[in-house]
Amino acid sequence: MAATRVSELAKELGMTTAELMAGLKDLGVPAAGPAAIIDAETAQTLREIYTPSSAGDARSVELALNATVKDLAEAIGVSASEVQKKLMQEGVLASINQRLDSTVIRRLAGVYGISLKMKAAPEAAPTHAPKHGGPRSGPQPRPPVVTILGHVDHGKTTLLDTIRNTNVVSGEFGGITQHIGAYQVEVEVEGEKRKITFLDTPGHAAFSAMRARGASVTDIAVLIVAADDGVMPQTVEAIDHARAAEVPIIVAINKVDKPDANPERIKTQLTEHGLVPTEYGGDVECVAVSALKGDGIDELLEHILFVADVQDLKADPHGRATGVIIEARQEVGRGAVATALVQQGTLRNGDCVVCGLSYGKIKAMTNDRGERINKATPSMPVEIIGLSSVPMAGDRLESAKDEREARLKAQKRSEQQRAAQLQGGRTRVTLEDISRRVREGEAKELSVIVKADVQGSGEAVVGALQALPQDEVSLRVVRCGVGNVSEDDIQLAAATDAVVLGFNVRADQQSQSAAERLHVDIRTYQVIYELTEAVERAMKGMLAPVYEEIALGKAEVRATFRTPRGVIIAGCYVTEGKITRNADARVRRGRDVIYTGKIDSLKHIKEDVREIAQGFECGMVMDGYGDYKTGDVIEAFEVREVQRL
Ligand code: GDP
Repeated sequence: MAATRVSELAKELGMTTAELMAGLKDLGVPAAGPAAIIDAETAQTLREIYTPSSAGDARSVELALNATVKDLAEAIGVSASEVQKKLMQEGVLASINQRLDSTVIRRLAGVYGISLKMKAAPEAAPTHAPKHGGPRSGPQPRPPVVTILGHVDHGKTTLLDTIRNTNVVSGEFGGITQHIGAYQVEVEVEGEKRKITFLDTPGHAAFSAMRARGASVTDIAVLIVAADDGVMPQTVEAIDHARAAEVPIIVAINKVDKPDANPERIKTQLTEHGLVPTEYGGDVECVAVSALKGDGIDELLEHILFVADVQDLKADPHGRATGVIIEARQEVGRGAVATALVQQGTLRNGDCVVCGLSYGKIKAMTNDRGERINKATPSMPVEIIGLSSVPMAGDRLESAKDEREARLKAQKRSEQQRAAQLQGGRTRVTLEDISRRVREGEAKELSVIVKADVQGSGEAVVGALQALPQDEVSLRVVRCGVGNVSEDDIQLAAATDAVVLGFNVRADQQSQSAAERLHVDIRTYQVIYELTEAVERAMKGMLAPVYEEIALGKAEVRATFRTPRGVIIAGCYVTEGKITRNADARVRRGRDVIYTGKIDSLKHIKEDVREIAQGFECGMVMDGYGDYKTGDVIEAFEVREVQRL
């Protein structure tokens, strides 16, 4: 007897793969998916369990997997205590409600001369996509949304194209394809037609950029690794991104048609990165494919659907639509063109929507094959036109009652964004900030990305960090990598709200500007102890920010005035730098500091101004002070939090 695949054996036994998978789990040898290999011995046991015995006039009974002693007794038609007694003779001590192993059940049935047909326990069988006539309201199964990640040249584009070309959704005319950032394919599994949505924007930059904007779109990540090349730096990056997003990973070992392909080597490499293939006892399914020749693609798709079933993905197709913008651009003649992925409800042609700061009434909707459509249900990507401006990838789409409501929502979002920008945009997650939140009892987790000069020191840093007490705040290492802090590290940090900790490495100019843009905190250290101490203090809520004073400018008081309302104005001449409204300032008389406060108002001639430069005169009012004397010097300064790099 030879080893076989789950899907093949299920077919042979007339069961669904999900039922057989449940059976395998019950036997204590869980398989990762329909493509997983079952060894010859296990296959034989399964055959024995699931093929009704042909013992002459034996009574045939159907019993659920995981049946209890009581269930078994009822099925056989004897008392539970009798079954318990028989079980004891077999060496099994079981209570009435104890679930029994299927081999034990089978053995016992044999003792009573009963033929058993085992059925997967209903709760163990994952739900499938809706068949016609499914429930009419409430959440319903939806197609999975898949992103393909991997190193450059390992075949992402080829795989996406091959899947698209060989599995087009039926009922289309001529198959004119259009790249709109995502597409759906149809796969037939066990006689049932099911859909999968693929995001057509390969690369983890796009994947994490969307997540950094709060959009979680992907349900499953397919990691592609070329069998002739192996795990490369971007493969490792992709693993980190998928892990950080907490999405299941399926590995497609690509280019197996090449003579120098070595899939086994890839599996060993993956294991080194914590992805243990099913063949090695882990839970990561690796499917060998040739994206170029189309080999193994069906198996990959079948596995995607299996993982989707386990996730039990659902959405309510009723009511107003919400979704996410996948990509958008301005087109001559068509205006703002955006691809939206519907996540809940149904999006209809003519709906009024708001997408980020943009809004409008949908003038036309097109699917991934360039066909005009009137509605889009969950997991379906559609291109829409009619928006007031170009939204951004990751923006949330919401349909509104009418155009007015859409416009008001967009305006509100725009005000909120402006307010957020005034406060410095996305809150920067700094160690000090975490520390403050720990003090306030808000932070429960600290995520870090560790970059070190060599593998050994990176591991030492992570080891030291993990040894820190984690009773109040747990530490999550999102990535531990070697080399200078890269832009990709910053992307990942932004997507996971992590702080980047560098040990004996630098952050180059590009990563520093990315960190500035995405509000990511990079801290570099040369001494392990200093690094762990900073993290420990942050986790205990004891890390206070360090501030420094930055001098802005100086002005000399030349005269004082009193307004009719009694406010004292210092008439000054700016001698150095600049003076800005709202800046902190101190008044010096000789060497003595007479007063420290804020500059409330600043006037040049009679106009209110925000700042005034060296060589100009101005009128200045400081909060709560009016006792200036000619010759006083006012020093303006700003207090900034020190960014430790
Ligand atoms: P991407 O950078 O990951 O999108 O990779 P591409 O899809 O552009 O593929 C890179 C190169 O590998 C192209 O020349 C493809 O033709 C080739 N390629 C992709 N898949 C296969 C495959 O299964 N077999 C072989 N022999 N070549 C492949």
